[in-house]
Amino acid sequence: MKPHDGMYIDGEWRPAAGTETIDVVNPADEQVFATVPAGTDADVDAAVRAARAALPGWAGTAPADRAARIAALRDVLAGRRDEIAETVAAELGAPLAFAQAVHADLPIKVAGSYAELAAGHAFEERIGNSTVFHEPVGVVGAITPWNYPLHQIVAKVAPALAAGCTVVLKPAEDTPLVAQLFADSVHEAGLPAGVFNLVTGLGPVAGQALVAHPGVDLVSFTGSTAVGKQIAATAGAAVKRVALELGGKSANVILPTADLAKAVNVGVANVMSNTGQTCSAWTRMLVHRERYDEAVALAAAAAAKYVPGERIGPVVNAEQQARVRGYIEQGIAEGARLVAGGPEAPRALGYWVSPTIFADVTPGMTIAQEEIFGPVLSILAYEDEDDALRIANGTVYGLAGAVWAGDDAEAVAFARRMETGQVDINGGRFNPLAPFGGYKQSGVGRELGPHGLAEYLQTKSLQF
Ligand code: NAD
Repeated sequence: MKPHDGMYIDGEWRPAAGTETIDVVNPADEQVFATVPAGTDADVDAAVRAARAALPGWAGTAPADRAARIAALRDVLAGRRDEIAETVAAELGAPLAFAQAVHADLPIKVAGSYAELAAGHAFEERIGNSTVFHEPVGVVGAITPWNYPLHQIVAKVAPALAAGCTVVLKPAEDTPLVAQLFADSVHEAGLPAGVFNLVTGLGPVAGQALVAHPGVDLVSFTGSTAVGKQIAATAGAAVKRVALELGGKSANVILPTADLAKAVNVGVANVMSNTGQTCSAWTRMLVHRERYDEAVALAAAAAAKYVPGERIGPVVNAEQQARVRGYIEQGIAEGARLVAGGPEAPRALGYWVSPTIFADVTPGMTIAQEEIFGPVLSILAYEDEDDALRIANGTVYGLAGAVWAGDDAEAVAFARRMETGQVDINGGRFNPLAPFGGYKQSGVGRELGPHGLAEYLQTKSLQF
């Protein structure tokens, strides 16, 4: 797509208030291939004012009409599927097939789900002598990361629109083009002016201004736990609602009765997918001591299939590459055993990282505690189920996880004891309608499906 040099505010592309720009770099070859404007306080203020002005009209639009606009948006996105995939492939470095199947198709599906949910949701209920209205929270400030750039946008904007909220989006610096493509799609779908607004820019400038703006009623943020804590503090001081989708360090627990080869192969694929840049990735594999060596051999063989440039892309930027490499070096220094990959980049040009597997990882090691956000898997041994549970729950995070066992009931019994927001049982498929969000420091609130819609609603009770 052709980049815009302005901001999408009040239904049109307007010149940015300042002159600073952000380079958009292809992580596969380090080439700058576009620039977008870096928004200032003035851009954010104009966007929030437009969103506030549009709020009464959109909140007062019948849910069926809001649903029709979201369905139109879904159709526009579906019509631009290839362009979405090419854009994400260029700015994130995702292999094209993965960009089509996930970065394009998932948000199209999620947009469609909110067209249906908006049409069918009970925005009014009767409780005893009260009528309870579920009303939009107001103006939403949405701040998104680069790892699933369009999905994260749609997972916030679609439910907000379904609820009757209006939105100002500040997308990640590394992936602004697919956000511009989204704004074009909103325009093409015929949403009223001001209902959706886009300000590209730096987190500490445009993002910070959006969080602090008194005209924003709810901040929905996806990104790192460190930034999430700052945002929660700023929003809390103003008694603003906040939804946070943060980091993770999820456990893939393989119980002794499981199909080991399947559990290990799916586990490795889960971590390597999107070059390990998935907040819900199962980056710790937990295997019973008696089957440990077999699991490590299977994982090393599985990792060999992820050839950089074919099934796995680069990481998003130089900083991320240095960060992941630093963790790999730290894993070696702390005594973990490298069985695949390592700190050397597999290619000189671009932000490449070798798919890496560590064995002999103990629960206290840095690589077993901190989110790496790259293609790095740690395999840990446990002695018995209680030990496995202690290890699985032994981080500050609680976003996702997996349990494998001989039958689902055994896996479910273990999953019930895990401190985490979602668990895949024996390879259960991702469900775009199931609530997605974290326990502990992985976040506050839920996205997707009806629970995601509820985040953007507040109740008003009328007594009769
Ligand atoms: P990040 O926190 O640095 O940035 C995320 C977004 O916040 C970007 O748009 C950025 O510009 C903005 N931002 C940065 N500083 C800000 C500030 N002071 N005020 C307001 N906005 C600010 O994270 P990232 O590097 O873009 O993404 C990687 C992290 O995101 C990982 O830790 C990952 O686990 C997490 N993540 C979580 C989920 C989830 O659903 N839980 C999903 C994707 C990514």
